[in-house]
Amino acid sequence: MSNNNLIEVVDLKKHFQVGRNATLKAVDGVSFNIKKGETLGLVGESGCGKTTCGRTILGIYKTTGGHVYFDGKDVHSMNRSEKLNFKSRAQIIFQDPYASLDPRMTIGDIIAEGMDVHLSFRPAERREKIEDLLNKVGLNSEHRLRFPHELSGGQRQRIGIARALAVEPEFIMCDEPISALDVSIQAQIVNLLIKLQKEMGLTYLFISHDLSMVKHISDRVGVMYLGSMAELASNKVLYEKPLHPYTQALISAIPIPDPEVEEKRNRIKLEGEVPSPINPPEGCKFRQRCMYAEDICGKVTPILKEVDKDHFVACHLF
Ligand code: SF4
Repeated sequence: MSNNNLIEVVDLKKHFQVGRNATLKAVDGVSFNIKKGETLGLVGESGCGKTTCGRTILGIYKTTGGHVYFDGKDVHSMNRSEKLNFKSRAQIIFQDPYASLDPRMTIGDIIAEGMDVHLSFRPAERREKIEDLLNKVGLNSEHRLRFPHELSGGQRQRIGIARALAVEPEFIMCDEPISALDVSIQAQIVNLLIKLQKEMGLTYLFISHDLSMVKHISDRVGVMYLGSMAELASNKVLYEKPLHPYTQALISAIPIPDPEVEEKRNRIKLEGEVPSPINPPEGCKFRQRCMYAEDICGKVTPILKEVDKDHFVACHLF
């Protein structure tokens, strides 16, 4: 494993048993790495496996196969003390800030929950630390004694971020952190995450179906389709020269804020829904929606190949 990688995911699989005979292959052999200090965006339609992938990386789900290495250690075979250490170094920010905050606890106690487990502070230090975290996320010390229902959606997500930062993590998985927020607030939260990353040297896995926000925050982007990685490249390459037909369709659907350009551009319309991951199609899982599908696509599963430096694509066209 390269020393630059904080996370290395190797052939990761997460399958769920559904009923007696069916298996849902939510993540089915995915490999990638995340370098220290970088943001890897993970995109795809709902049901593509991106959140399951993130949660398996964090050890919330056990793996069905493959490995996740965090700073060289296999997350899924850590002993008790290694797990405790990992939990303080790797945190999560949830999609729905309200559902993830206990309504009976004050904001101060919510922020300090993880801190109380992993770090030991005297009461005055604890309070100072909470107030410092509130300031870091753009709130003030007066919010410490409030309750979640007294805050707006954006403020609650700021609390979710402060809670994650409280244990001084190196890695944060941001699981659709803006999709439950008003559009006007989304950019503020993304900009806050970018600012905190610079200040604290954080590493992010940013999961979202919003490709324009992912473009704004990510260094590299992975595109998932039905449990597999379809394409992985630097932000610039992926948005300017997407190769996989699925990536091309997703990118062509991003609205352009210029009405004239928007009216003239050719959009690639994605037909149909994502097929069920319980019985995915043979060969290329995208073939039923792909305008370039050939005979081979129904017979052979394309593997993720490096087609240009640091540009990986799983498609028989390349
Ligand atoms: Fe389309 Fe075939 Fe490429 Fe799949 S492998 S994306 S079906 S051309």
